Amino acid sequence: MPCAEAVAVKDGRILKVGTNAEIRPLIGKNTRVVRLGGKTVLPGFIDTHVHVVDFGRLLMWLDLAGVGSIKEMQSRLKERLVKTAVGKWVVGRGWDDGRFVEKRLPNRFDLDAVAPSNPVILYYQCGPVCVVNSRALELAGITKTTPNPSGGTIDKDPKTGEPSGVLRDAATDLVFSKIPEPTFEELVEASGLAVEKIVAAGITSIHWLATSQVDLAVLQTLLKKKQLPLRVYMVIPFGLLGKVPLDENLHDDFAKIGGVEVVADGYLSSGTAALFEPYADDSKINGKLLCTPAELEATAQKIVKAGLQLVIHAMGDKAIDAALAALEAVEGQGRHRVDQAALFNKDLLQRAQKQKVILSVQPLVGASEFSVYSALEHLGKKRARWLYPLKTLFKKGVCVCGGSDCPMEPLNPLQAIQSAVAREFFPEEQLTVDEALRMYTVNAAYASSEETVKGSIEEGKLADFTVLSKNPHKVAPTKIRGIRVELAIVGGKIVYQR
Ligand SMILES: [Zn+2]
Repeated sequence: MPCAEAVAVKDGRILKVGTNAEIRPLIGKNTRVVRLGGKTVLPGFIDTHVHVVDFGRLLMWLDLAGVGSIKEMQSRLKERLVKTAVGKWVVGRGWDDGRFVEKRLPNRFDLDAVAPSNPVILYYQCGPVCVVNSRALELAGITKTTPNPSGGTIDKDPKTGEPSGVLRDAATDLVFSKIPEPTFEELVEASGLAVEKIVAAGITSIHWLATSQVDLAVLQTLLKKKQLPLRVYMVIPFGLLGKVPLDENLHDDFAKIGGVEVVADGYLSSGTAALFEPYADDSKINGKLLCTPAELEATAQKIVKAGLQLVIHAMGDKAIDAALAALEAVEGQGRHRVDQAALFNKDLLQRAQKQKVILSVQPLVGASEFSVYSALEHLGKKRARWLYPLKTLFKKGVCVCGGSDCPMEPLNPLQAIQSAVAREFFPEEQLTVDEALRMYTVNAAYASSEETVKGSIEEGKLADFTVLSKNPHKVAPTKIRGIRVELAIVGGKIVYQR
């Protein structure tokens, strides 16, 4: 049944799926009926790669995107200061002097005018450039006589020699390093904001990639405070295996520790993904495996023995080669996967097919590799052909699931689906809408061994749905990202309503 008219939910699970006539008799006195007026209901989206605490940290920052003048920047800062204790730091990001009607860079005095006593640091929209106020300069000890740090510039007024407040590159760290680490309570609050944003994007389940024990404590606190509106499959770093209890205070349906991540290499964009041949634009580097294939296999054995899913971060072809070898060594003992898998070759594609591996892929990272990090020059055209070869992987029957790597890339699954369906580079690798949707539903559920309870709208499964303003199958591929999320429903409860 590819399409239905109505669905009945009871006790958090799907009771029946069918036509309006079939479902109507199930409406009782206490039933809440939600009429959608022709909107589209999909299985709740599952994002297989999110860093919740890091996303939360970023959300705490003052958002200056789209600000059209220094005056507007001042008023946003003023608004934030009303809610900020005296003396506390304000960190922001997103200004662009190219948009300012004043046609000049902001300076310390612009910020001082509204923020005389709180230290303030506001980053440019991209890259390490910021403007700080006088209080921040004072705390960092930056004066007229402070020399530029190596690899950075302290802008100074040509007449007075006083710092203007604009800092570039390494000089930004002089101030940023003075900001105290957020307290645990602040991180919990920030992560609470993050999960709210996540459900607003139509995501009802996430694979939460933890970076430290703090992530686990935050998750437990959110659960305790009943501030977890979605389901979490947590993946812990290998360093925590054996150091944290695996099930304490976690509720099975809502949160569990499922996997352990081992990092085999770095990132293509920074030239640290491990390649068989050097990068095309720099013959001296080819990335590095962060562990030998033998070490990777030994680690894999330990994780499998602990009864958890092995998640190997492997982006470059050499790292994927090592990851597939490690997966082969533990074949038949659980369901494991390669995360961030990006650069393939014909041999790797064949092995991925033969081993029936699960690949967690980030379509928006892929789009950035081509459009922002110039994959064609970075890898050469021949190799770049097999960068994110999603259609080929689907044709080979490999289970490909989708993640965002938020906050490194935007959270929006519809934007990711559009980029997989309408990709510009090597369009022969474009997916159909149906395939791209599978990445965020059934395939993602399979990736965490939850396909019997999640990923499709079937009787008996958890009642997790994403309601969209339009059917992605029925709009032009380049319009998919414009579809709005109307509702997010988890266990039959509306957790987000536009
Ligand atoms: Zn990540």
